[in-house]
Amino acid sequence: MADALMVQPDLEFIREAAKDGGDFKKCYQCGICTSVCSLSTEENSFPRRQMLLAQWGMKDELMADPGPWLCFYCGDCSKHCPRQANPGENMMKLRRYLTSQYDWTGLSRLMYRSAAWEFGALALVAALVWMLFTLPRNFGFRLLSHSGPQALSTVMLNKFAPVETVHVADIIMALLLGLLLLTNAMRMFRHLTRGKTIPLRLYFTELRQLIVQGLVQLRWRACKGNEAAKNWIRHFLLVTGYVTMFSLVVLFLPWFQVRNSSFHWTSFLGYYATTVLLVTTVWILWDRMRKNSEMHRFSHLSDWLFPILLFLTALSGILVNVLRITNQPMATYVAYTIHLMIAVPMLVVEVPFGKWAHLAYRPLAIYLAGVIQAAQTLSPSGALRSGHAQAEGREYIRPDSIIF
Ligand code: SF4
Ligand code: SF4
Repeated sequence: MADALMVQPDLEFIREAAKDGGDFKKCYQCGICTSVCSLSTEENSFPRRQMLLAQWGMKDELMADPGPWLCFYCGDCSKHCPRQANPGENMMKLRRYLTSQYDWTGLSRLMYRSAAWEFGALALVAALVWMLFTLPRNFGFRLLSHSGPQALSTVMLNKFAPVETVHVADIIMALLLGLLLLTNAMRMFRHLTRGKTIPLRLYFTELRQLIVQGLVQLRWRACKGNEAAKNWIRHFLLVTGYVTMFSLVVLFLPWFQVRNSSFHWTSFLGYYATTVLLVTTVWILWDRMRKNSEMHRFSHLSDWLFPILLFLTALSGILVNVLRITNQPMATYVAYTIHLMIAVPMLVVEVPFGKWAHLAYRPLAIYLAGVIQAAQTLSPSGALRSGHAQAEGREYIRPDSIIF
């Protein structure tokens, strides 16, 4: 054991956590939450450990801890906490905090802290989409005005938004968003692995976890909470809905965005995606309004915005399709513009900076936790020391070695 105890609280972190409503001080470290959590393990113990780290302002230790991402917020720990310290909700707050720290642009931090920034960012991107449809001569309403009366008497989407142009824009947007998310994920990777000696081959042997958790979040199924199965199925359906929609828009747009009121088989995929998105988002919002489960008792603005934007995207997409099939040209063009004024801001703001980013961070954390655990079993002492303490020549008594 280390012979000196040196805790250097990060006061800025404590202030920020308090701003988000994080009340870690209520916790008196009884450990009941960790003992009832069906996902907590000896190697990756939570949520008591994270409550202590947050209480003590040990930001560096928290940044190096995959624990917050291994929690699926079943709420069992909060139900059993004798101090009503809401450990489940505090793990959620830590995930929001970590998301804002991984983002190198700083936008995520601003948006999590301020509704004005979040709405402002969405409004700005929506305004840019509106300008795209109104300003260039060869696109949108101006193209329509000089492309002949035919496009005003029958739906001709290609005379309004040429599919080739939209497709190229979609691909560029997907690449930029993917790049932003990737760079943020790399920062997360650096924090979780910093100072730890991990043999390269372990990154390959554990790769299966990254794929399985990324696709189906199988770890959630191990959660014993009352509503865990329902929440997993709903989340899984939701993911299939927007992955289908995203694929249609980025990969299959030349077929999906038909030029007139005709029909194409890709529409069936569109119907699946929109139905699933409508049903699951209404279901989520309904649960949030009723607040009758631990997971839905507390709601941050981002918890509302994401399902609302997904719902509006699906609804406006259906409207475009109905107007197109019933051959109402101008109404179709206007609905199409509004549809993109909802969908594009949602993607641009939520994917790299908002709630959506957890779909990348959680599988990565589960994967790295597996890699680190495998490395620990190989290390002579059976444990890796804290990277930050080691790198800075400091010694901590690790919180999980103080009380148990
Ligand atoms: S059960 Fe509550 S008081 Fe006990 S360690 Fe967990 S959060 Fe703290
Ligand atoms: S919310 Fe559930 S999964 Fe998360 S720490 Fe609490 S008991 Fe564990």
